Amino acid sequence: MTDGDAGAEHLPGDGAREDVRTALIEWYEADHREYPWRETDDPYAILVSEIMSQQTQLDRVVDAWDDFLDRWPTVEELAAAPRGDVVAFWSGHSLGYNNRAKYLHEAATQIVDDYDGEFPETPEELQELMGVGPYTANAVASFAFNNGDAVVDTNVKRVLYRAFDVPDDDTEFERVASDLMPDGQSRVWNNAIMELGGVACEKTPRCDVAGCPWRRWCDAYETGDFTAPDVQSQPSFEGSRRQFRGRVIETLGEYDDLPLSELGPRIRVDYGGDTGREWLRDLVADLADDGLVTVDDAGDEVRVRLRE
Ligand code: SF4
Repeated sequence: MTDGDAGAEHLPGDGAREDVRTALIEWYEADHREYPWRETDDPYAILVSEIMSQQTQLDRVVDAWDDFLDRWPTVEELAAAPRGDVVAFWSGHSLGYNNRAKYLHEAATQIVDDYDGEFPETPEELQELMGVGPYTANAVASFAFNNGDAVVDTNVKRVLYRAFDVPDDDTEFERVASDLMPDGQSRVWNNAIMELGGVACEKTPRCDVAGCPWRRWCDAYETGDFTAPDVQSQPSFEGSRRQFRGRVIETLGEYDDLPLSELGPRIRVDYGGDTGREWLRDLVADLADDGLVTVDDAGDEVRVRLRE
């Protein structure tokens, strides 16, 4: 990966950019993790989920979020509650620093007293609320009002760095993330790109397993270099199947056919174990499904050749 300002030139052009956007949104809409706060546009419920998830794993937040909204279903009811009750709830559900409960209660009071119970709708105004920083303000503006900027968190940086070779530079990440986000679609877009970072472009990428919609444009998928700002050494082979597929084709081009035992060491130095025969058998089966190779397992050895 490169440093400096080389990232811009790797972004897809205007035409392809539309395809990049559509592919991600369609992938997200076809399937994603179901969290209840994704099913609502109530800013109060979304703010509660965002504050809770700052320090707690999402799966654990679900129960706490349900209980909280059962107890204080509206911002008015939260504002009217004794602060000690909210803090006790926070501790009782192991939600991390109690200050967050105090701030949330204070923010509810501000909304009732200063905003007549109506949430502000822009990231800038939302930041006026107690305990609401830029990230949370933008998340509420996006998910409640579809009115946010592009989210740039660690997951999004990892995706942009790998997919478009964006340099490890916050200004560049902001710029590219904003360029990519389709106008007026911050709700679905921010959910989708965070989902991509959360279930596909993880530290160990799951490009094929998760059906990443950006494989055809992705620089890392092409080169097999899956390092990222938060992934300093090369993660496991999982995501680099495309690279190995290419090597199989290239190698077979030099032979009439090869048994797996000879093909394997020619395409990877660490052939064996988890990345041994079963792994290679699976890889060539994919290539055969795609019509690129022929697999002959009639004899003692499985032999592979390029399809004519
Ligand atoms: S193809 Fe892989 S590395 Fe590239 S964006 Fe998708 S999951 Fe990340």
